[in-house]
Amino acid sequence: MQIIDGKAVSAAVRDRIKTEVENLKNMGKETGLAVIIVGNDPASKVYVSNKKKGCEQVGMNSYEYALPEETTTEELLELIEKLNGDTKIDGILCQLPLPRHIDEKTVINSIAPQKDVDAFHPVNTGHIMIGDHSFLPCTPAGIIEMLKYYNIQISGKECVVIGRSNIVGKPMAMLLLQNSGTVTVCHSKTENLSDVTRRADILVAAVGKANFVTADMIKDGAVVIDVGMNRNAEGKLCGDVDFENVKDKCSYITPVPGGVGPMTITMLLNNTLTASKNNM
Ligand code: NAP
Repeated sequence: MQIIDGKAVSAAVRDRIKTEVENLKNMGKETGLAVIIVGNDPASKVYVSNKKKGCEQVGMNSYEYALPEETTTEELLELIEKLNGDTKIDGILCQLPLPRHIDEKTVINSIAPQKDVDAFHPVNTGHIMIGDHSFLPCTPAGIIEMLKYYNIQISGKECVVIGRSNIVGKPMAMLLLQNSGTVTVCHSKTENLSDVTRRADILVAAVGKANFVTADMIKDGAVVIDVGMNRNAEGKLCGDVDFENVKDKCSYITPVPGGVGPMTITMLLNNTLTASKNNM
């Protein structure tokens, strides 16, 4: 069994991004990411701070817009419209979740698709479906990057994704399909889930429940990718997979922390680089 080291893959990708950002700068093109955060959610604040740090690390400019909890949808749309027209901003990221009174869908749809580095705008999700995308959603793209880094073959393999969210499960399934995997998507209504997961050569768990994937659900030699970010009874960060009992059945497995997580921000930086190149 080999542990997939998300930090190592992430460092390698960030080195490449840093070089490309510097090359653009030498040609007179700086790269800028606008990060919008509304309200005081502590987890969101940590994510935003990590995204800013990531920008610094690869030589991108980050511009933070921290808005108060009581910001209205209209006020947020006004800011996004300004950023859409601002030439020093290549990418716009609006940290989710937004406070309940804000219309999240309208906000996502207001970001110019060419600056939508999270790839949540329907235009970009449509491009992902067709396969002629500029941006890929960060978490699934990071997983594909990790599989490629470890030379794990997707083509022809049975791939099972547990979870069908717009952010992880659905785009993950689409990317595995584009890489010629044979893909099954499971969700809370799936019957006989273990029978399906036991067929998987590559199993991706994106459920949001600690210890959800147990050893009896795994085929011997499977590749197990754990997207979950949960807190266990002791308050420690853990994934969806019962790591200790599953690891010995796998050929490869991602740990939590240190697996999928580090790749997500790296792929955001990669999308911002793409946006910058497209803006030259
Ligand atoms: P989500 O929107 O809550 O989706 C969870 C999915 O799991 C749903 O499709 C749900 O099915 C399915 N599910 C729930 N219970 C199930 C069951 N008993 N059997 C089979 N499927 C079941 O969550 P998400 O946004 O995709 O995120 C999933 C996890 O990944 C969370 O822990 C989140 O924190 C983590 N995450 C990590 C990263 C990272 O960078 N590492 C990024 C994003 C998310 P239904 O659709 O039928 O309800």
